[in-house]
Amino acid sequence: MNRKIVAYKALPADVEAYLREHAEVRNVDPKDKAAFTAALKDADGAIGASVKITPDMIEGATKLKVFSTISVGFDQFDVDDLTRRGIILTHTPDVLTESTADTVFALILASARRVVELAEWVRQGNWKASIGEACFGVDVQGKTLGIIGLGRIGGAVARRAALGFRMNVLYTNRTANEQAENEYGAKRVELDELLEKSDFVCLQVPLTPETRGMIGADELRKMKCSAILINASRGPTVDETALVEALQNGTVRGAGLDVFEQEPLPASSPLLAMKNVVALPHIGSATHETRHAMARNAAENLIGALEGTLTENIVNRDMLAR
Ligand code: NAP
Repeated sequence: MNRKIVAYKALPADVEAYLREHAEVRNVDPKDKAAFTAALKDADGAIGASVKITPDMIEGATKLKVFSTISVGFDQFDVDDLTRRGIILTHTPDVLTESTADTVFALILASARRVVELAEWVRQGNWKASIGEACFGVDVQGKTLGIIGLGRIGGAVARRAALGFRMNVLYTNRTANEQAENEYGAKRVELDELLEKSDFVCLQVPLTPETRGMIGADELRKMKCSAILINASRGPTVDETALVEALQNGTVRGAGLDVFEQEPLPASSPLLAMKNVVALPHIGSATHETRHAMARNAAENLIGALEGTLTENIVNRDMLAR
């Protein structure tokens, strides 16, 4: 078998076995950058996630035809550079939509009802009498949810919000999402209006040059001081320094965060010292079922692209015309 694949993330056994039916698989630890780039030079395809792939890493990788990322987000890649080199980039939309929307809702509920803070309070032995106002949270049902980036995951969040929690849904997108408007009563507004009216502001945009830092000090000031910011998109969509300040000053009530400018989040981050912050370790899609489905999907994308049969899940779709 001549075809060679580099796997730079651990794969479930059955998924790796599937790949081995189609190619020789070389498992590489991407932390060893020299070994990783050397392996890419001899590979037809690569599969993995959570590693920044820069043009210098694929210089001289002339056989490389496909990168298959086990994620829907593809901000770790220079897509134009891959296209110039004739490399197809595939990703795994859809299979992770529902579990990521669950994570968003977990953050909404945990932040509003102070679940993490109060569970810790109980664990520390502070529950000595019936609780009073000091432990109250705020309602979620019936409130206004503003979704910045109402696509696949944003749509699944809107469904939970509108049908499950009877929330009003506002959103911003560059194009209208008619399905969400028709089925969940979602209303497309300008960003300023969304910030001013929402009780929960939730980011679900991809990280691009336009979305980087889209929520900064000015935007946080436009939010209600009773509002909660939820970010399960990518850390750099929010200016974290501005967010820390807004949380410290009471500009906003709280934040539920799955993603950060720097991951893993350093233990010294001021966010970790705040009771009104729920911080998760980037678990958006992290369930056994979904991570398995993503790996399987990415493996099938890779083989399909190498065999020239893949028609969906291609990020640089202009490659199809070649
Ligand atoms: P999607 O279906 O492409 O949705 C993205 C939405 O963002 C679209 O509705 C898009 O609408 C909107 N958008 C894009 N650029 C925008 C801009 N400049 N201004 C305003 N809206 C903009 O993607 P998805 O599958 O829902 O995933 C979204 C992102 O979630 C991923 O890219 C990834 O970074 C993140 N994610 C995080 C986790 C996690 O573990 N926390 C898990 C999965 C995904 P228009 O094109 O009309 O603007």
